[in-house]
Amino acid sequence: MAQIIIVGAGRTGTALALLLVKHGINVTLIEAAKDFNRVFRGEGLMPSGLDALTQMGLSALLEDIPTRKLDGWEFIINGKPLFRVDEPMGASRPCTLVSQPPLLKALISEAQTHDGFVFIPGVAVKDLLRSDNRVAGVVLSDGRQLTADLVIGADGRNSIVRERTGLKLIKQPKNIDILWFKLAASPQFVDDNVFLTIVNSERVFSIFHGAESGKLHLAYVISAIEPTDYKQTNWAEIFASLSPAWLAEHFRHHADTIESPIKLSVVVGRCPQWHAPGILLLGDAAHPMSPVRAQGINIALRDVIVATNYLVPILSADAEHQQIDLALSQIQTEREPEIIRAQQLQLQEAAQGELLRKNSLVRSLLVQFAPLLSKIIKNSWLRRQHEMRQGITQVNLKV
Ligand SMILES: Cc1cc2nc3c(=O)[nH]c(=O)nc-3n(C[C@H](O)[C@H](O)[C@H](O)COP(=O)(O)OP(=O)(O)OC[C@H]3O[C@@H](n4cnc5c(N)ncnc54)[C@H](O)[C@@H]3O)c2cc1C
Repeated sequence: MAQIIIVGAGRTGTALALLLVKHGINVTLIEAAKDFNRVFRGEGLMPSGLDALTQMGLSALLEDIPTRKLDGWEFIINGKPLFRVDEPMGASRPCTLVSQPPLLKALISEAQTHDGFVFIPGVAVKDLLRSDNRVAGVVLSDGRQLTADLVIGADGRNSIVRERTGLKLIKQPKNIDILWFKLAASPQFVDDNVFLTIVNSERVFSIFHGAESGKLHLAYVISAIEPTDYKQTNWAEIFASLSPAWLAEHFRHHADTIESPIKLSVVVGRCPQWHAPGILLLGDAAHPMSPVRAQGINIALRDVIVATNYLVPILSADAEHQQIDLALSQIQTEREPEIIRAQQLQLQEAAQGELLRKNSLVRSLLVQFAPLLSKIIKNSWLRRQHEMRQGITQVNLKV
Protein backbone atom coordinates (compact mmCIF):
# COMPACT_ATOMS: atom_id res chain seq x y z
CA MET A 1 0.00 0.00 0.00
CA ALA A 2 1.29 3.47 -0.91
CA GLN A 3 2.73 5.68 1.87
CA ILE A 4 1.81 9.36 1.86
CA ILE A 5 3.42 12.15 3.90
CA ILE A 6 1.44 15.32 4.46
CA VAL A 7 3.41 18.32 5.72
CA GLY A 8 1.29 20.73 7.82
CA ALA A 9 -1.76 19.95 9.96
CA GLY A 10 -3.69 23.09 9.07
CA ARG A 11 -7.12 22.97 7.45
CA THR A 12 -5.79 21.45 4.19
CA GLY A 13 -3.49 18.85 5.75
CA THR A 14 -5.86 17.51 8.42
CA ALA A 15 -8.89 17.23 6.12
CA LEU A 16 -6.86 15.46 3.42
CA ALA A 17 -5.24 13.09 5.93
CA LEU A 18 -8.67 12.08 7.22
CA LEU A 19 -10.14 11.44 3.77
CA LEU A 20 -7.14 9.35 2.67
CA VAL A 21 -6.92 7.18 5.82
CA LYS A 22 -10.68 6.58 5.62
CA HIS A 23 -9.91 4.88 2.30
CA GLY A 24 -7.22 2.69 3.82
CA ILE A 25 -4.25 4.74 2.59
CA ASN A 26 -1.23 5.07 4.92
CA VAL A 27 -0.71 8.71 5.92
CA THR A 28 1.91 10.36 8.12
CA LEU A 29 0.87 13.91 9.03
CA ILE A 30 3.67 16.17 10.28
CA GLU A 31 2.98 19.46 12.07
CA ALA A 32 5.59 21.96 13.24
CA ALA A 33 3.44 23.29 16.11
CA LYS A 34 3.30 21.34 19.39
CA ASP A 35 -0.38 21.99 20.02
CA PHE A 36 -3.45 23.75 18.65
CA ASN A 37 -2.97 26.96 20.61
CA ARG A 38 -1.34 28.74 17.67
CA VAL A 39 -2.84 31.76 15.91
CA PHE A 40 -5.26 30.80 13.18
CA ARG A 41 -5.90 33.19 10.35
CA GLY A 42 -9.67 33.37 10.28
CA GLU A 43 -12.52 31.02 11.04
CA GLY A 44 -15.20 32.13 8.57
CA LEU A 45 -16.72 29.34 6.49
CA MET A 46 -18.80 30.29 3.47
CA PRO A 47 -21.68 28.06 2.28
CA SER A 48 -19.19 26.37 -0.12
CA GLY A 49 -16.87 25.45 2.77
CA LEU A 50 -19.77 24.17 4.90
CA ASP A 51 -20.91 22.12 1.89
CA ALA A 52 -17.38 20.68 1.56
CA LEU A 53 -17.50 19.53 5.21
CA THR A 54 -20.93 17.97 4.60
CA GLN A 55 -19.62 16.10 1.57
CA MET A 56 -16.76 14.82 3.71
CA GLY A 57 -19.36 13.46 6.17
CA LEU A 58 -18.26 15.89 8.88
CA SER A 59 -21.43 17.96 9.53
CA ALA A 60 -22.15 16.13 12.79
CA LEU A 61 -18.70 17.08 14.03
CA LEU A 62 -19.66 20.78 13.86
CA GLU A 63 -22.41 20.15 16.43
CA ASP A 64 -19.80 19.49 19.12
CA ILE A 65 -17.54 22.49 18.57
CA PRO A 66 -18.13 26.23 19.00
CA THR A 67 -19.70 27.79 15.91
CA ARG A 68 -21.64 30.98 15.37
CA LYS A 69 -23.52 32.15 12.32
CA LEU A 70 -23.27 35.60 10.81
CA ASP A 71 -26.57 37.48 10.57
CA GLY A 72 -25.46 40.00 7.97
CA TRP A 73 -22.84 42.30 6.49
CA GLU A 74 -22.96 46.05 7.05
CA PHE A 75 -20.82 48.96 5.86
CA ILE A 76 -20.49 52.28 7.70
CA ILE A 77 -18.64 55.09 5.92
CA ASN A 78 -17.56 58.23 7.80
CA GLY A 79 -19.99 57.30 10.59
CA LYS A 80 -23.02 56.89 8.29
CA PRO A 81 -24.59 53.51 7.37
CA LEU A 82 -24.16 52.82 3.65
CA PHE A 83 -25.96 49.48 3.35
CA ARG A 84 -26.66 46.17 5.05
CA VAL A 85 -27.30 42.73 3.57
CA ASP A 86 -28.73 39.89 5.65
CA GLU A 87 -27.47 36.33 5.54
CA PRO A 88 -27.89 33.78 3.98
CA MET A 89 -28.13 35.88 0.79
CA GLY A 90 -29.88 33.20 -1.30
CA ALA A 91 -27.69 30.32 -0.09
CA SER A 92 -29.06 27.38 1.89
CA ARG A 93 -27.00 28.33 4.96
CA PRO A 94 -25.32 31.43 6.33
CA CYS A 95 -21.62 32.18 6.52
CA THR A 96 -20.58 30.56 9.81
CA LEU A 97 -17.64 31.09 12.15
CA VAL A 98 -16.11 27.79 13.21
CA SER A 99 -13.54 27.65 16.00
CA GLN A 100 -10.42 26.21 14.36
CA PRO A 101 -8.51 24.48 17.22
CA PRO A 102 -11.42 22.12 18.13
CA LEU A 103 -12.15 21.52 14.44
CA LEU A 104 -8.57 20.43 13.73
CA LYS A 105 -8.42 18.38 16.94
CA ALA A 106 -11.64 16.59 15.99
CA LEU A 107 -10.37 15.84 12.46
CA ILE A 108 -7.16 14.36 13.87
CA SER A 109 -9.01 12.33 16.54
CA GLU A 110 -11.25 10.94 13.80
CA ALA A 111 -8.21 10.09 11.63
CA GLN A 112 -6.61 8.34 14.62
CA THR A 113 -9.48 5.83 14.68
CA HIS A 114 -8.23 4.46 11.33
CA ASP A 115 -5.29 2.10 10.80
CA GLY A 116 -2.33 3.49 8.91
CA PHE A 117 -2.50 7.03 10.35
CA VAL A 118 0.52 8.52 12.13
CA PHE A 119 0.48 12.07 13.52
CA ILE A 120 3.82 13.73 14.37
CA PRO A 121 3.25 17.10 16.10
CA GLY A 122 5.94 19.50 17.29
CA VAL A 123 8.48 18.65 14.59
CA ALA A 124 9.06 20.71 11.44
CA VAL A 125 9.98 19.36 8.04
CA LYS A 126 13.21 21.04 7.04
CA ASP A 127 14.18 19.32 3.79
CA LEU A 128 13.17 16.76 1.18
CA LEU A 129 14.71 13.39 0.28
CA ARG A 130 15.28 12.61 -3.39
CA SER A 131 15.78 9.40 -5.30
CA ASP A 132 15.97 8.94 -9.09
CA ASN A 133 15.05 12.60 -9.76
CA ARG A 134 11.89 12.24 -7.69
CA VAL A 135 10.99 13.48 -4.21
CA ALA A 136 11.08 10.38 -2.03
CA GLY A 137 10.41 11.68 1.50
CA VAL A 138 11.21 14.33 4.08
CA VAL A 139 13.90 15.23 6.60
CA LEU A 140 12.58 16.34 10.00
CA SER A 141 14.13 18.96 12.27
CA ASP A 142 15.08 16.20 14.75
CA GLY A 143 17.12 14.50 12.02
CA ARG A 144 14.68 11.68 11.22
CA GLN A 145 14.25 10.77 7.56
CA LEU A 146 10.88 9.43 6.41
CA THR A 147 10.25 7.99 2.95
CA ALA A 148 7.03 8.16 0.95
CA ASP A 149 5.53 7.47 -2.47
CA LEU A 150 4.08 10.99 -2.43
CA VAL A 151 4.76 14.08 -0.27
CA ILE A 152 1.97 16.67 -0.04
CA GLY A 153 2.97 20.18 0.99
CA ALA A 154 0.07 21.63 3.00
CA ASP A 155 2.41 23.86 4.98
CA GLY A 156 0.81 27.20 4.23
CA ARG A 157 1.84 30.46 2.64
CA ASN A 158 5.53 30.28 3.59
CA SER A 159 5.78 26.62 2.52
CA ILE A 160 9.21 25.09 3.00
CA VAL A 161 8.13 22.17 0.79
CA ARG A 162 7.50 24.65 -2.04
CA GLU A 163 10.84 26.33 -1.47
CA ARG A 164 12.83 23.06 -1.29
CA THR A 165 11.15 21.74 -4.45
CA GLY A 166 12.01 24.95 -6.28
CA LEU A 167 8.38 25.60 -7.30
CA LYS A 168 7.91 29.32 -7.92
CA LEU A 169 5.30 31.46 -6.17
CA ILE A 170 4.15 34.54 -8.11
CA LYS A 171 3.08 36.99 -5.42
CA GLN A 172 0.58 39.82 -5.80
CA PRO A 173 2.01 43.21 -4.76
CA LYS A 174 1.79 43.47 -0.99
CA ASN A 175 -0.19 46.49 0.25
CA ILE A 176 -1.74 45.55 3.55
CA ASP A 177 -1.27 43.56 6.72
CA ILE A 178 -3.83 42.96 9.44
CA LEU A 179 -3.78 43.68 13.16
CA TRP A 180 -6.03 41.13 14.85
CA PHE A 181 -7.69 42.09 18.17
CA LYS A 182 -10.05 40.36 20.55
CA LEU A 183 -12.19 42.15 23.14
CA ALA A 184 -15.27 41.60 25.30
CA ALA A 185 -18.46 41.01 23.33
CA SER A 186 -21.26 43.54 23.28
CA PRO A 187 -24.87 42.26 23.63
CA GLN A 188 -25.67 43.89 20.27
CA PHE A 189 -23.38 41.42 18.43
CA VAL A 190 -24.69 38.50 20.52
CA ASP A 191 -28.23 39.24 19.32
CA ASP A 192 -27.33 40.27 15.79
CA ASN A 193 -23.91 39.06 14.64
CA VAL A 194 -23.24 41.44 11.81
CA PHE A 195 -19.84 41.57 10.08
CA LEU A 196 -19.49 45.32 10.41
CA THR A 197 -16.94 47.14 8.24
CA ILE A 198 -16.12 50.71 9.22
CA VAL A 199 -14.27 53.09 6.90
CA ASN A 200 -13.41 56.48 8.34
CA SER A 201 -10.59 58.97 7.72
CA GLU A 202 -8.36 56.54 5.83
CA ARG A 203 -8.79 53.89 8.49
CA VAL A 204 -10.64 50.60 8.01
CA PHE A 205 -11.61 47.84 10.38
CA SER A 206 -14.10 44.99 10.52
CA ILE A 207 -15.66 43.69 13.72
CA PHE A 208 -17.88 40.68 14.48
CA HIS A 209 -18.57 38.11 17.22
CA GLY A 210 -16.20 35.13 16.81
CA ALA A 211 -17.19 31.49 17.20
CA GLU A 212 -16.14 31.31 20.87
CA SER A 213 -18.52 32.83 23.43
CA GLY A 214 -17.93 36.30 24.75
CA LYS A 215 -15.32 37.60 22.29
CA LEU A 216 -15.52 40.15 19.52
CA HIS A 217 -12.88 39.83 16.81
CA LEU A 218 -11.56 42.96 15.16
CA ALA A 219 -9.40 43.08 12.01
CA TYR A 220 -7.69 46.45 11.54
CA VAL A 221 -6.06 47.11 8.16
CA ILE A 222 -2.54 48.56 8.25
CA SER A 223 -0.18 49.52 5.47
CA ALA A 224 2.44 46.86 4.75
CA ILE A 225 4.81 49.61 3.59
CA GLU A 226 4.62 52.25 6.32
CA PRO A 227 5.31 50.73 9.74
CA THR A 228 2.60 51.17 12.40
CA ASP A 229 3.68 51.50 16.02
CA TYR A 230 0.86 49.28 17.14
CA LYS A 231 2.17 48.33 20.58
CA GLN A 232 2.00 51.82 22.14
CA THR A 233 -1.35 52.91 20.80
CA ASN A 234 -4.54 53.71 22.70
CA TRP A 235 -6.67 51.43 20.56
CA ALA A 236 -9.91 51.89 22.48
CA GLU A 237 -9.83 55.64 21.71
CA ILE A 238 -8.87 55.11 18.06
CA PHE A 239 -11.67 52.59 17.44
CA ALA A 240 -14.16 54.71 19.39
CA SER A 241 -13.31 57.81 17.35
CA LEU A 242 -14.08 55.93 14.11
CA SER A 243 -17.30 54.26 15.29
CA PRO A 244 -21.00 55.12 15.63
CA ALA A 245 -21.99 56.20 19.18
CA TRP A 246 -23.25 52.78 20.43
CA LEU A 247 -20.04 51.04 19.40
CA ALA A 248 -17.78 53.89 20.59
CA GLU A 249 -19.35 53.53 24.02
CA HIS A 250 -18.60 49.79 23.99
CA PHE A 251 -14.92 50.38 23.10
CA ARG A 252 -14.51 52.99 25.86
CA HIS A 253 -16.39 50.97 28.47
CA HIS A 254 -14.43 47.76 27.72
CA ALA A 255 -11.07 49.34 26.91
CA ASP A 256 -9.31 47.10 29.44
CA THR A 257 -10.56 43.95 27.66
CA ILE A 258 -8.88 44.83 24.33
CA GLU A 259 -6.10 42.25 23.99
CA SER A 260 -2.72 43.20 22.51
CA PRO A 261 -3.00 42.90 18.74
CA ILE A 262 -1.35 40.15 16.72
CA LYS A 263 0.11 41.25 13.41
CA LEU A 264 -0.95 38.87 10.63
CA SER A 265 1.07 39.29 7.47
CA VAL A 266 -0.93 38.97 4.26
CA VAL A 267 0.70 36.99 1.43
CA VAL A 268 -1.31 36.45 -1.74
CA GLY A 269 -0.18 34.60 -4.85
CA ARG A 270 -0.22 31.46 -6.95
CA CYS A 271 2.32 28.88 -8.08
CA PRO A 272 2.30 28.45 -11.87
CA GLN A 273 3.01 24.78 -11.13
CA TRP A 274 1.83 23.01 -7.97
CA HIS A 275 3.64 19.72 -8.47
CA ALA A 276 6.86 17.95 -9.38
CA PRO A 277 7.63 14.22 -9.48
CA GLY A 278 6.71 12.85 -6.03
CA ILE A 279 5.32 16.13 -4.68
CA LEU A 280 2.06 18.11 -4.67
CA LEU A 281 1.29 21.48 -3.09
CA LEU A 282 -2.26 22.20 -1.87
CA GLY A 283 -4.05 25.04 -0.04
CA ASP A 284 -2.06 28.16 0.79
CA ALA A 285 1.22 26.40 -0.10
CA ALA A 286 0.08 26.40 -3.76
CA HIS A 287 -2.02 29.60 -3.72
CA PRO A 288 -1.90 31.76 -0.56
CA MET A 289 -5.26 33.53 -0.23
CA SER A 290 -6.09 37.03 0.93
CA PRO A 291 -8.31 37.44 4.01
CA VAL A 292 -10.90 39.35 1.93
CA ARG A 293 -14.34 37.68 2.16
CA ALA A 294 -13.09 34.54 3.92
CA GLN A 295 -12.01 32.41 0.97
CA GLY A 296 -8.89 30.46 1.97
CA ILE A 297 -10.31 27.72 4.24
CA ASN A 298 -13.19 27.10 1.84
CA ILE A 299 -10.90 26.89 -1.16
CA ALA A 300 -8.50 24.62 0.78
CA LEU A 301 -11.31 22.19 1.66
CA ARG A 302 -12.36 22.12 -1.99
CA ASP A 303 -8.72 21.40 -3.02
CA VAL A 304 -8.86 18.45 -0.63
CA ILE A 305 -12.01 17.01 -2.25
CA VAL A 306 -10.55 17.20 -5.76
CA ALA A 307 -7.19 15.75 -4.64
CA THR A 308 -9.04 12.87 -2.91
CA ASN A 309 -11.03 12.12 -6.08
CA TYR A 310 -7.83 11.68 -8.09
CA LEU A 311 -5.55 10.13 -5.48
CA VAL A 312 -7.73 7.48 -3.80
CA PRO A 313 -8.30 5.28 -6.90
CA ILE A 314 -4.62 5.22 -7.89
CA LEU A 315 -3.16 4.96 -4.39
CA SER A 316 -5.55 2.13 -3.44
CA ALA A 317 -4.52 0.29 -6.61
CA ASP A 318 -0.81 0.56 -5.70
CA ALA A 319 -0.15 2.47 -8.91
CA GLU A 320 3.33 3.13 -10.35
CA HIS A 321 4.98 6.41 -9.41
CA GLN A 322 4.49 7.63 -12.99
CA GLN A 323 0.70 7.27 -12.66
CA ILE A 324 0.73 9.13 -9.34
CA ASP A 325 2.69 12.00 -10.90
CA LEU A 326 0.22 12.21 -13.80
CA ALA A 327 -2.66 12.62 -11.33
CA LEU A 328 -0.89 15.59 -9.71
CA SER A 329 -1.12 17.68 -12.86
CA GLN A 330 -4.80 16.70 -13.26
CA ILE A 331 -5.51 18.00 -9.74
CA GLN A 332 -3.95 21.37 -10.56
CA THR A 333 -5.80 21.57 -13.90
CA GLU A 334 -9.16 20.99 -12.22
CA ARG A 335 -8.59 23.41 -9.32
CA GLU A 336 -6.78 26.27 -11.03
CA PRO A 337 -9.77 28.05 -12.69
CA GLU A 338 -11.51 28.49 -9.31
CA ILE A 339 -8.35 29.76 -7.63
CA ILE A 340 -7.65 32.30 -10.39
CA ARG A 341 -11.22 33.63 -10.31
CA ALA A 342 -11.42 33.73 -6.49
CA GLN A 343 -8.16 35.69 -6.28
CA GLN A 344 -9.42 38.10 -8.99
CA LEU A 345 -12.62 38.69 -7.02
CA GLN A 346 -10.69 39.22 -3.80
CA LEU A 347 -8.44 41.70 -5.58
CA GLN A 348 -11.45 43.63 -6.90
CA GLU A 349 -12.99 43.79 -3.41
CA ALA A 350 -9.68 44.93 -1.94
CA ALA A 351 -9.31 47.61 -4.66
CA GLN A 352 -12.78 49.01 -3.84
CA GLY A 353 -11.82 49.11 -0.17
CA GLU A 354 -8.55 50.89 -0.95
CA LEU A 355 -10.35 53.44 -3.14
CA LEU A 356 -12.70 54.25 -0.26
CA ARG A 357 -9.89 54.32 2.28
CA LYS A 358 -7.59 56.57 0.30
CA ASN A 359 -10.04 58.93 -1.43
CA SER A 360 -11.80 61.31 0.92
CA LEU A 361 -13.83 62.82 -1.96
CA VAL A 362 -15.29 59.41 -2.85
CA ARG A 363 -16.11 58.82 0.83
CA SER A 364 -17.86 62.15 1.28
CA LEU A 365 -19.78 61.81 -2.01
CA LEU A 366 -20.95 58.35 -0.92
CA VAL A 367 -22.13 59.68 2.42
CA GLN A 368 -23.84 62.70 0.82
CA PHE A 369 -25.66 60.64 -1.81
CA ALA A 370 -26.16 57.49 0.28
CA PRO A 371 -29.99 57.72 0.19
CA LEU A 372 -29.84 57.70 -3.65
CA LEU A 373 -26.88 55.38 -4.16
CA SER A 374 -27.07 52.80 -1.40
CA LYS A 375 -29.49 50.48 -3.25
CA ILE A 376 -27.34 50.49 -6.41
CA ILE A 377 -24.14 49.91 -4.44
CA LYS A 378 -25.77 47.17 -2.38
CA ASN A 379 -27.00 45.32 -5.50
CA SER A 380 -23.62 45.58 -7.18
CA TRP A 381 -21.90 44.27 -4.00
CA LEU A 382 -24.41 41.41 -3.77
CA ARG A 383 -23.78 40.38 -7.39
CA ARG A 384 -20.04 40.12 -6.68
CA GLN A 385 -20.55 37.90 -3.61
CA HIS A 386 -22.29 34.91 -5.21
CA GLU A 387 -19.17 33.15 -6.57
CA MET A 388 -17.16 33.86 -3.42
CA ARG A 389 -19.88 32.28 -1.26
CA GLN A 390 -21.08 29.35 -3.34
CA GLY A 391 -17.87 28.43 -5.15
CA ILE A 392 -17.00 28.92 -8.78
CA THR A 393 -16.63 25.41 -10.19
CA GLN A 394 -18.50 22.18 -9.40
CA VAL A 395 -16.69 20.31 -6.63
CA ASN A 396 -18.17 16.92 -5.68
CA LEU A 397 -16.56 14.18 -3.64
CA LYS A 398 -16.74 11.08 -5.84
CA VAL A 399 -14.99 8.41 -3.79
C1 LIG B 1 -5.80 37.80 8.51
C2 LIG B 1 -6.34 36.63 7.74
C3 LIG B 1 -7.65 36.21 7.99
C4 LIG B 1 -8.20 35.15 7.26
N1 LIG B 1 -9.50 34.80 7.49
C5 LIG B 1 -10.03 33.78 6.80
C6 LIG B 1 -11.39 33.36 7.04
O1 LIG B 1 -12.10 33.90 7.91
N2 LIG B 1 -11.88 32.36 6.28
C7 LIG B 1 -11.14 31.74 5.31
O2 LIG B 1 -11.67 30.86 4.60
N3 LIG B 1 -9.84 32.08 5.10
C8 LIG B 1 -9.27 33.07 5.82
N4 LIG B 1 -7.97 33.41 5.60
C9 LIG B 1 -7.16 32.58 4.69
C10 LIG B 1 -6.80 31.26 5.42
O3 LIG B 1 -6.18 31.55 6.65
C11 LIG B 1 -5.84 30.39 4.60
O4 LIG B 1 -6.19 30.40 3.24
C12 LIG B 1 -5.91 28.94 5.16
O5 LIG B 1 -5.43 28.91 6.48
C13 LIG B 1 -5.08 27.96 4.32
O6 LIG B 1 -5.03 26.71 4.99
P1 LIG B 1 -3.76 25.77 4.86
O7 LIG B 1 -4.08 24.54 5.63
O8 LIG B 1 -3.43 25.61 3.41
O9 LIG B 1 -2.58 26.57 5.53
P2 LIG B 1 -2.38 26.92 7.10
O10 LIG B 1 -3.71 27.09 7.77
O11 LIG B 1 -1.41 28.06 7.11
O12 LIG B 1 -1.70 25.62 7.71
C14 LIG B 1 -0.35 25.29 7.45
C15 LIG B 1 0.14 24.40 8.56
O13 LIG B 1 1.45 23.95 8.23
C16 LIG B 1 2.26 24.02 9.38
N5 LIG B 1 3.66 24.11 8.93
C17 LIG B 1 4.26 25.16 8.33
N6 LIG B 1 5.54 24.87 8.04
C18 LIG B 1 5.75 23.59 8.45
C19 LIG B 1 6.88 22.71 8.40
N7 LIG B 1 8.05 23.09 7.87
N8 LIG B 1 6.75 21.46 8.91
C20 LIG B 1 5.56 21.05 9.45
N9 LIG B 1 4.47 21.86 9.52
C21 LIG B 1 4.56 23.10 9.01
C22 LIG B 1 1.76 25.26 10.12
O14 LIG B 1 2.12 25.26 11.49
C23 LIG B 1 0.25 25.13 9.90
O15 LIG B 1 -0.38 24.37 10.89
C24 LIG B 1 -7.40 34.49 6.29
C25 LIG B 1 -6.08 34.89 6.03
C26 LIG B 1 -5.55 35.96 6.76
C27 LIG B 1 -4.14 36.41 6.45
